[in-house]
Amino acid sequence: MDDTIEKSFLASLEMTRFKGFLQDHHYISNQYIFVAQLINLILKWYCSKTKKQHLVSVYFERLENYCRKFYALNIKIFNWNSVNSVQKYNQKPDLKIWLKNPLSILAENAGGGILLEGARIIELIPSGKQPSSEYDSVFDASCHVILPGLINLHHHFYQTLTRVYPQALNKELFPWLKTLYPLWAGITPEALRMATRLALAELLLSGCTTASDQHYVFPAGLENAIDLQVEEAQILGIRMVLCRGSMDRSEKDGGLPPDSVVQTCDEILADSERLIQQYHNPEEGAMTQIALAPCSPFSVSETVMRESAKLAEKNNVLLHTHLAETEDENSFCLETIGCRPLDYLEQVGWLNNKTWLAHGIHFTDEEIQKLAAAKTGISHCPSSNMVLSSGVCRVMDLEKAGVHVGLGVDGSASNDSSNLMQEVRQAFLLQRLQHGSKVTHLDALRWATEGGANVLRRPELGRIAEGMQADLALFKLDELRFSGNGDPLAALVICGAHQADRVMVAGKWIVEDGQILGLDLEQLQAQHYREAKRLQEK
Ligand SMILES: [Zn+2]
Repeated sequence: MDDTIEKSFLASLEMTRFKGFLQDHHYISNQYIFVAQLINLILKWYCSKTKKQHLVSVYFERLENYCRKFYALNIKIFNWNSVNSVQKYNQKPDLKIWLKNPLSILAENAGGGILLEGARIIELIPSGKQPSSEYDSVFDASCHVILPGLINLHHHFYQTLTRVYPQALNKELFPWLKTLYPLWAGITPEALRMATRLALAELLLSGCTTASDQHYVFPAGLENAIDLQVEEAQILGIRMVLCRGSMDRSEKDGGLPPDSVVQTCDEILADSERLIQQYHNPEEGAMTQIALAPCSPFSVSETVMRESAKLAEKNNVLLHTHLAETEDENSFCLETIGCRPLDYLEQVGWLNNKTWLAHGIHFTDEEIQKLAAAKTGISHCPSSNMVLSSGVCRVMDLEKAGVHVGLGVDGSASNDSSNLMQEVRQAFLLQRLQHGSKVTHLDALRWATEGGANVLRRPELGRIAEGMQADLALFKLDELRFSGNGDPLAALVICGAHQADRVMVAGKWIVEDGQILGLDLEQLQAQHYREAKRLQEK
């Protein structure tokens, strides 16, 4: 019976979509919205009548997802009364929009703003000039500082469920992990869905337009973790590199994690291959990509490392892992493998331009040269490194040697926040402390934009220039902390911007007036909190 209800529900929803209609028209008329509301009410009534209360939430979850998908087509159906007020420029993908006269912009000779067409930036306009071609609409950016959309290179979304977990507080990496693994073994698909949605919302609101997540915990029942993450990212409209994490070396094999969170090598490789075939888009401007991401030397067997590298090579996808994060890791590698972490990486076929490494702190001069020669990228995660007192990444030395460096907020349980704009400030402050005034706010902004794009091998991202993807983060400087500033770009970093006013991904506004379109943050927070408590009290 449940199946029948579900099918009829989905069929009814299909009706409201009016295939092809959404792409061809500028709005959904009130009649269609009325149909959706009616279905909604009938379902509610049916579920309460048949005492199938538990179904209500499932159906509404689905309804919500459909609504968000409509949003991906820029149709505001959540706000029933204002559907006709959808701004015209946000509807047709091929319209030309002029983001006019920004307060400041991180681009050369673009004081007059930028002209966008569909998903691309097509012209940079000098101060006082007009676009050289016709345009359909103008967005007045005179109160906004425009940055290329920020790129996050390292995260573990599921960890938002165990932020500042009391028993793990004030611990360094290994004991911190050992405290949290048993909790993470209890993560359900619903909990991961909420964690993913929440982390993506945090990232978007901080100006991030390309996110990556390394999910490596696969307890029984969570086999489709990456699938549901893909779904969440696509619904929200953020660009995403999903790193299929893995662990197969549990305590019984001398590893760190318990048996309940690891998988076998065969399971890992089969699922990795499936995900690449199903979701990886190698095209320029891709919204969804897959990378292979065994967790770390202390939780993954040599076989998984080697085979993942072969699989990545075969399918031309990237590789990602944690490396050189702590001195503990160096000792572990020397004791169990007989070499330092980077030597191990080389032995298992990972030292190449397809790999990027989270943290990359404890490298010698010689190892930095090796990384540069191999063109292996680094994700600097300053907050996490400071919280876990892991050390300071040698960002300036790495860049000087020619290594691409970007930024990552890292998992929420070690950073306890997924705010990438704040991470730009952290990176600036930490490197300034190490290297003095030769480190500027522009360096930190470069790491979070162009640096990240270089690491991900995405030349169409990370810069505001002709032909680049229209991924943008617009910040206002109307808070107390910015008052009196003399340099809007520097103010973002040094005064501590933390929330974007508008965010655009591939030419579509995802955030407007500090709100993610179509997402009820209050409801999300309540759902996420409930899942986090359930997990922590298990
Ligand atoms: Zn991490």
